[in-house]
Amino acid sequence: MTITTPPHFVLFPFMSQGHTIPILHLSRMLSDRHVSVTVITNSATKSALFKNNFISVINIPFPDPPALQTNDKSPCMASFINYIKSTKQLQPEFEQLVRTLPPVTCIISDGFLIWTQDSADKLGIPRLVFSGMNMFSSTMFNIMDNFNQHGEVRSINDPFPVPGFPRIKLTASHLEIGFKDDDPKSEGSDFVLRYQEATDRSYGMVVNSFYELEHEFNDYWNQNFVPKAWLVGPFCVAQPHAPMVEKPSWVHWLDKKLEAKEPVLYVSFGTQAEASEKELLEVADGLEMSNISFIWVVKPKELTFISVGFRERVKGRGLLVGEWVDQVEILNHEAVSGFLSHCGWNSVLESLCAGVGILAMPLVAEQHLNAVMVVDEIGVGLRLWPRNMTTRGVVDSKEVAKMVVELMEGDSGKRVKKKVKEVKESAHCAMKEGGSSWQSLEMLIDNVYGVM
Ligand code: UDP
Ligand code: UDP
Repeated sequence: MTITTPPHFVLFPFMSQGHTIPILHLSRMLSDRHVSVTVITNSATKSALFKNNFISVINIPFPDPPALQTNDKSPCMASFINYIKSTKQLQPEFEQLVRTLPPVTCIISDGFLIWTQDSADKLGIPRLVFSGMNMFSSTMFNIMDNFNQHGEVRSINDPFPVPGFPRIKLTASHLEIGFKDDDPKSEGSDFVLRYQEATDRSYGMVVNSFYELEHEFNDYWNQNFVPKAWLVGPFCVAQPHAPMVEKPSWVHWLDKKLEAKEPVLYVSFGTQAEASEKELLEVADGLEMSNISFIWVVKPKELTFISVGFRERVKGRGLLVGEWVDQVEILNHEAVSGFLSHCGWNSVLESLCAGVGILAMPLVAEQHLNAVMVVDEIGVGLRLWPRNMTTRGVVDSKEVAKMVVELMEGDSGKRVKKKVKEVKESAHCAMKEGGSSWQSLEMLIDNVYGVM
């Protein structure tokens, strides 16, 4: 085929940091391959990420999604689904916009923006879905949705082996987002059905992961489900590391810890889920008891739960940061050697790419599945279990202290550190020229260009 004009991709992320940041990295990867890229943004996108002018950015204002509360999940899920549905208001504006742009080769839009599949069909443009999930979670959701339709899962916390993967034991509560409940007319069931139906009709899935990490699930998916999955990550290593011009105070703090040879645990629960006061206080007490140095990034609301007394008591050893930080910079700082994480998929990948082992404390959504993957499947983390050993309980401060010490100094922590170094190596290899993700992206661009 003779290529005359470069391909033009329109990228439309969902309105949250965790879904927008990877899309911005992907736009750089495409642009590096001479694809012209237009990204549609909204207020959830950090302007700092647009310092580069390699992409065109079009802003369609839309409010941010509601926070996911961890202590009252069901009503919160309903309001989240309502928010997702409300994005459909953008459909006429989106279609009008795409018509006015230079010819579009492909639309990559978030799985939550279900209606963009109808737009793509109407406009005759192939659409790729970006779900923000890995192959493990996508595969588990699809297998279990089919399984549950036969009514074989009874109690929410009863472990059962996953059909096709008998070594993996899950409970229904692991699958709270993708799991259709008994009522096929419920909001949740209807949402999952429409999400899957639109994804099935799409041209393919772009996945922020790499083949070597989860080839078994990638192969299973491509043999059993549609659309075809393309593993082209981890996106977080696409951005060349730029040394910070002005170092924020937390970098100086980490530098001092490195000098003093005091390894630091990084603690963060992501941007979307708000941990309950009880959960945060147990974590705070556990960190205090552990005697390990830590840097804890908290959201403004969470900061109000943490007492002045706590800050005084951990002064010098623990640093609380109540503002947006460069998480990748923290994870790559030599002083940091562990990550207490909610297991959002971006955080997991950023940790793996920095060679930092994880203490998994999942809160909502597919974070529970990511924790299973991190701990049981890849072996790059330890699990922080709640008192009642279910996905919905609250962790105990003593357990926090014990597991923090285990990750940072214990034997299982040493095993994790060894494994995560291997995974880091293979993640970087996948993204290098000729690596699996590099090849996959080349093939993907060629494929969609051929469809035009
Ligand atoms: N690949 C992928 N999804 C697929 C098929 C392939 O992500 O459905 C990626 C995968 O990373 C693999 C690379 O593309 O390493 C090459 O795959 P393929 O099997 O098509 O090529 P071959 O291994 O036969 O050269
Ligand atoms: N992040 C960041 N600085 C912060 C908080 C978060 O850079 O202060 C980034 C983090 O590096 C990751 C994303 O925000 O890329 C969060 O995505 P993730 O999937 O881990 O979790 P979510 O926020 O979607 O639950």
